[in-house]
Amino acid sequence: MPKDRLQPDTNYILQVLKDIIGFKTVAPPGSCYQEIVDYLVPIFSGLGFETKKLVMPQEVFAAKCEDARLVGDRFNLRADLNVGAKETLVIYAHLDVVPAEGSWETDPFSLTRKNGRVYGRGVSDCKGSIAALIAALQALLQKDDAKRRPTHDLRYNLCILLTTDEEVGGYSGLCYLTDIGLVQGDYMLCMDGFSDDVVIGSNGMITWEVVVHGRSAHSGSSFMGVNAVERSLVVMQELMRLKTLVQSRRSMIPASSALEALGKKHLMPVLNITMINGGIKENIVPDRCVLRGDRRVIPEESMEDAIAEIEKAIKPLDVELDLRFFPGYPPMSVNPDHRWVAEVRAAVQRGMGFLPRLSGAQGSLDQAYATEKTRIPTCVFGVGRQLESNIHGPNENVRIADLEGFSRFLVELLAK
Ligand SMILES: [Zn+2]
Repeated sequence: MPKDRLQPDTNYILQVLKDIIGFKTVAPPGSCYQEIVDYLVPIFSGLGFETKKLVMPQEVFAAKCEDARLVGDRFNLRADLNVGAKETLVIYAHLDVVPAEGSWETDPFSLTRKNGRVYGRGVSDCKGSIAALIAALQALLQKDDAKRRPTHDLRYNLCILLTTDEEVGGYSGLCYLTDIGLVQGDYMLCMDGFSDDVVIGSNGMITWEVVVHGRSAHSGSSFMGVNAVERSLVVMQELMRLKTLVQSRRSMIPASSALEALGKKHLMPVLNITMINGGIKENIVPDRCVLRGDRRVIPEESMEDAIAEIEKAIKPLDVELDLRFFPGYPPMSVNPDHRWVAEVRAAVQRGMGFLPRLSGAQGSLDQAYATEKTRIPTCVFGVGRQLESNIHGPNENVRIADLEGFSRFLVELLAK
């Protein structure tokens, strides 16, 4: 087969990207999910996939998604193609985007082309990857009219999952599909990443809350009360001591290229106090002060140990308090010597012209929930550059060359 048949069509990538950027799948609240899935279904059906719209039942949504900001039905899409291969590859990306706030120079929901880049909310995170995937599949699966067979045999059966609410740390997308047993395969590619490195690890996340109790009094006789804001200093000092200890640890997993350039060599755990709220008036001794923050957990730690460590630091203090934890996604780690990791790196080299580093993500990923539960070996690799794509900020952008390169990478990964 001539090699140029395998070249994804740039105009098609940009056409699909323009269309899907136009669906305002902003979360919260998580809108237009049905519309974008209805747009995608005929594309995948046309390529020979069997498609399923997976709508989260209202009762599950009510029980598992306690977030008043989220409104409407949760439509996820699963598209399967059985080519009779021995193994199945699961490819995942999320359909939602963060709100388009800040000072945009272009309309965030209308794809704008400028200086070799395209701009729009989601072009990098992560609709660009979806458009590149569709163009790669189109290049691979063009029908040979005489035989009605795919032009190129695929190395894997495919299970494509395009899901909801990743940007709000939600449950309705990949986590829900994991729990109902619909994430099935031998390998997994998560496209919710950058083109800088192949990510094989990520931090887990725990949100915590400490409510410090006191007793209110007239501030002129403040010695008659217990000042919850002042007592919270004792808690904060202990948390700062623990922060120093926690943040002296390092994972075996290398940090991202972007962080490595800043001198961070390895993934590291983090403990932050990020919110404080107490007091109602200057002359009233406050009876309550609420501290909130998060703890990022490296794969070598456990979520349970991280919680126990905070409890052990704070509970013995002579302060009346309530402590609560809200565990998010777990940490993820994939064996860097796994054959799948080598295959992904080699396909990047063939498709994009460089051999990517392996690294970990300081943030946490819903992919980790699926990987830890299913134990499917996973690589995270997507469209965009950590230091230039400005994801979650105004003027989110991606190099058109990266969209083309990512699409070629997928062709290299999937073609026999
Ligand atoms: Zn994302």
